[in-house]
Parts: sequence; C-alpha cells; structure tokens
Amino acid sequence: MSIQENLEHITQEIKELESRSLTGEEVTLIAVTKNHGVEAIQQAVKWGIQNIGENRVQELVSKMEILGDCTNYHLIGSLQTNKVKYIYDKVTLIQSLDRMKLAEEIEKRASATETIVPCLVQVNIGEEKSKEGLALSEVEQFIYDLQEKKHLSVKGLMTILPNSEDEVYLRSLFRKMFQLKETIKKEHYTNSSMDILSMGMSGDYKIAIEEGSNMVRIGTKIFGQREY
Ligand SMILES: *Cc1c(COP(=O)(O)O)cnc(C)c1O
Repeated sequence: MSIQENLEHITQEIKELESRSLTGEEVTLIAVTKNHGVEAIQQAVKWGIQNIGENRVQELVSKMEILGDCTNYHLIGSLQTNKVKYIYDKVTLIQSLDRMKLAEEIEKRASATETIVPCLVQVNIGEEKSKEGLALSEVEQFIYDLQEKKHLSVKGLMTILPNSEDEVYLRSLFRKMFQLKETIKKEHYTNSSMDILSMGMSGDYKIAIEEGSNMVRIGTKIFGQREY
C-alpha cells in the first residue's frame, strides 16, 4: 500500500468514526513522521496532511529547516528543558508538557519574546513506569498551577496507552481521559481551554475516537514500519 492509499483509507475511516463518536467532533489527524525522511513527509503533505508529529527535537528541527511552512509541526516526544529554545516558537503544539520545570522554561522563553505557546499536558493514564506523563490524580492541580504561566496556553490533554490487546481495558483508560478533560474544562482555568484530547495511535485509534478523542497520532499505518 502506498502512502496515498493508506491516507485515503484512514481519512475515510476517521470520517465514519466521527459520526458515531461521543462528541461528534472533527478529529485532527497527526501524521507521525519520526524515522521517516522528508520525501515521505512531502508525499503525505501532497495527499492532504496538514499536521506532522515528531518525537525528537533534533529531528524535528532539521526537517522543519527543509520543509518550511508547508505543514504544521507537533512535538509529541519528551522535551528536555535545554531544548525548549529550539522549538517553542515554531511548533503548533507541544504535546508533552509533563512537569513544572518544563513549564517554567517554556514560560521564561515565551515571555521574553512575547509568544504564547500552545501545549497539551501529557498523562500517564496506564501508570507505566516506562512512560512519561503525570498520574491521573496530579493533573488537575498541575493545570491549576499553570495559571501563573501567562505565556502557556493549555489546549488539552495527551496520552499514550499501554501496549495491550485488551480492548475493554484500553476503552476504560480512554474513557478516564475523556472524563478528566471534561472535568477540568468545566473549571474554566484562565489559560486553559481544554478542547483537545490527543489519544489514539496506529493500534488503537478507532477505540480512541469512539471514546472521545479528537486528535489521533498515526505513524505506522500511514508510512509502514519504521526502521531504527
Ligand atoms: C511513535 C508515536 C506515535 C505513532 O505510533 P504508531 O504506532 O506508529 O502509529 C504516536 N504518538 C507518539 C507519542 C509516538 O511517539
């Protein structure tokens, strides 16, 4: 299957899923392009992709230099504080905000240049040791505290689920995420809109959309297996 065929298939499927999801909202497709070359990205852009996701700063920056503004860029991998300066004013969304030290660094950079940086707070909903993200119980206080960071705009939540075949289990985790997003949204904290729920990857995006995701991050199903 070519990138074009994969994209046509996925976009069609997303449309159908939107119509029977919890919210009926439009779902944004992020093409995850890590470990794929710029030619693959250019093809995806040609076939309609408007958002790409990368999980390493270095790789993101070098691709941005070549590709320019033909697409929007999302940082979806863990971000070290000393790398914030390379991307905070260039990406559409930092999807991996997971600690106050990182928020402080983003705030420092953004206030110096009077930029507002859109972020998602990453949640480790499966409570896996190997994964970044806040525990479910920490998220609301964290977003409450972020209100002092005037140059951050919290657009919502992001999560990566455990690798599991157990659909009931996965569904229950997605549902917790949706409820958490809704609960926090009702609080109307000053700099958080809580409109975005970024969850669902190649293996689980169908369930994710059914459970209220409005942003999916898909790599393998578009570009094939990554070579490391
Ligand atoms: C790699 C990656 C994805 C995409 O994974 P696939 O299984 O290839 O679709 C999504 N989100 C994050 C954070 C990733 O690192």
